[in-house]
Amino acid sequence: MFRPAISRVSRQFAVFARHPQAFRSYASASKSSFSWEDPLASKNLLTEEELAISDTAERYCQEQLLPRVLQAYRDEHYDPAILLEMGELGLLGANLHGYGCAGASTVASGLITRAVERVDSGYRSGMSVQSSLVMGGIYEFGTNELKEKYLPDMAKGKLLGAFGLTEPNHGSDPGSMESTARPHPTKKGYLLLSGSKTWITNSPIADVLLVWAKLQETGKIKGFLIDRKDCPPGTLETPAIKNKTGLRASITGMIHMDDCPVPEENMFPDVEGLTGPFTCLNSARYGISFGTMGALEDCITRAREYALGRKQFKNNPIAKYQLVQKKLADAATDAAYGVLASIQVGRLKDEGKVTPEMISMVKRQNCDRALVNARALQEIFGGNAVSDEYGIGRHVANLFVTQTYEGQSDIHSELKSL
Ligand SMILES: Cc1cc2nc3c(=O)[nH]c(=O)nc-3n(C[C@H](O)[C@H](O)[C@H](O)COP(=O)(O)OP(=O)(O)OC[C@H]3O[C@@H](n4cnc5c(N)ncnc54)[C@H](O)[C@@H]3O)c2cc1C
Repeated sequence: MFRPAISRVSRQFAVFARHPQAFRSYASASKSSFSWEDPLASKNLLTEEELAISDTAERYCQEQLLPRVLQAYRDEHYDPAILLEMGELGLLGANLHGYGCAGASTVASGLITRAVERVDSGYRSGMSVQSSLVMGGIYEFGTNELKEKYLPDMAKGKLLGAFGLTEPNHGSDPGSMESTARPHPTKKGYLLLSGSKTWITNSPIADVLLVWAKLQETGKIKGFLIDRKDCPPGTLETPAIKNKTGLRASITGMIHMDDCPVPEENMFPDVEGLTGPFTCLNSARYGISFGTMGALEDCITRAREYALGRKQFKNNPIAKYQLVQKKLADAATDAAYGVLASIQVGRLKDEGKVTPEMISMVKRQNCDRALVNARALQEIFGGNAVSDEYGIGRHVANLFVTQTYEGQSDIHSELKSL
């Protein structure tokens, strides 16, 4: 008789909930065993090096980040020392080659984002901006001098980066940006940047700000590296945006530029238009696709544990009830599919066969499924879901942001080639 796969997964949770011992013997009856933590055995697709990098990242995140996140989220506090710690472990710009970076595979860099986001999407955002958006941008488009000057210290987390694309009047449509760069009227070899960026991760604490603005002479978008220490007073302000309802463990702010002088050599020479920012975003969006699966997996772990312990009606654990199991089965299925898709896209990227549509697809799908499932799993906690100590509400609030930034999901649904 045909049984949909979903009900089989659901049965796994059901049997496990009733008799953990029975689950083991049911699993061992066949040669291969089912693991609820890796339902489609994605680990089989990873190299030894990727497994080792994933282990290092997971251990650091669980031992060093997890104990800090509850208070950091309550206080809306981001500790920049986190990037130093990640730098020491080689987790920053991990898929870049040279300049003190690990030179690992794209999948390995995704496994790092998954480990970090298993703890919190805000911590992953701070890391992704540093690694993919700013280091990735300098690596891809910067001159050799800029790479030598910034990448080694950024890889160690000694210099912090921010990426300024979004403006108060232009988010989904960055091509309409109003920020400009004009030649300095008196100082040869310098440009003056003016305009405002908003919702910029890390901006209040960044040493190096990669800002996109239109060159006044051509009207074309160019990338500029603003080095905070070289800015005269009053030309660069980066106020924090406080009282966020999500991503509270990361720091977000604005960038105000008022005739901010930038040397011409800090402009990316060979890229113009949206190709520059979109190339950086593609790399970060890949990390988000993998990262959100980490957040969803943590929601599954927390919800499963809660459902096994919480007893309602005739002293049964709520995990015994099929409606609860379905929520877990749906989430586990989506997480397993999402991880496999991210591995595949990562492999294609390293083979030079990835397209922007593929990245849009995994970013959108994984963000959407993570958010929908996290919201459903939240119900398992009943009233306790409202307490921040259970962690589920934090993930739900964070996952709304991941679905919104770097291209809101509806914007990614435009597949021109279909
Ligand atoms: C915490 C946080 C951190 C961020 N970090 C950064 C960062 O580091 N750097 C950076 O540059 N930006 C960052 N952003 C900004 C983020 O990328 C933007 O918020 C996002 O791109 C959406 O832009 P918007 O907010 O202006 O929304 P809008 O563009 O105003 O969109 C609002 C709604 O309208 C919909 N919409 C817009 N156009 C269309 C259309 N043509 N058809 C159908 N629907 C449409 C959108 O899908 C969305 O649902 C961050 C945002 C947040 C919240």
